Amino acid sequence: MYEKSMGELDVVIELDNLYSELDKKQKSLNDLPSWMQSAYQEYLAKKEEYEHIKSKKESLESQLREAELRLNELEESYGNLNERASKISNMKQYEAYVREKKRIKEEIEKTKSLKNDISAEIELFKENFAEVEASFLDVEKTYKKELAKWEASKPEIAREIETIEKKINELRSLLPPNIVRRLELLREKFGRATAKIYSSEDNQFSYCSNCNYVVRPVVIQRIKLGIELIECDNCKRILYQ
Ligand SMILES: [Zn+2]
Repeated sequence: MYEKSMGELDVVIELDNLYSELDKKQKSLNDLPSWMQSAYQEYLAKKEEYEHIKSKKESLESQLREAELRLNELEESYGNLNERASKISNMKQYEAYVREKKRIKEEIEKTKSLKNDISAEIELFKENFAEVEASFLDVEKTYKKELAKWEASKPEIAREIETIEKKINELRSLLPPNIVRRLELLREKFGRATAKIYSSEDNQFSYCSNCNYVVRPVVIQRIKLGIELIECDNCKRILYQ
């Protein structure tokens, strides 16, 4: 696809651009797209609110179950106590029986009242919970729809990445390995390897577009000759016009 006769600098510029494009594509494959950010933030906030209220509801329900179990136990003990009544043979046993009966009866009343309190709290809570749940499910639905849209776009992005990688390999093969290495090092250090030169309005001076450092006329002459790659004196990026 690329001509062997392509100048070294042109190859380097194209390669630098392709690497940047590749980075962008890879980012869009892995990072949440900007158009999803607000749905995602809203989803997270609603999810936290929902989970909080859900755990409160579950805790109340478990307290209610415990109270019901305890009540069953107590009622069973109370029933057993009545069976024992027929075997009482003296006053001492009778007194113990009465004390025990009173104790269990009291605890039954206490547990019943606790159970009613919890039930009432659950009842009060119900509407609030239903509201929060409905709102969360609504937001979750929107978020999942967007997530699916993003997922659906990924195979296309992956294909684009493949195409870019092919072009990159082709261009790399046109350059001497030391230049490829130099370009990659510059990218690792500075994000980009090349910088365009721009001129002042009166055309008197030229500058590096990356760091705005002055580019001397002799440097521009050398770039025009195209014999070597020239870097900015200040930011070290490879300059081009
Ligand atoms: Zn510079």
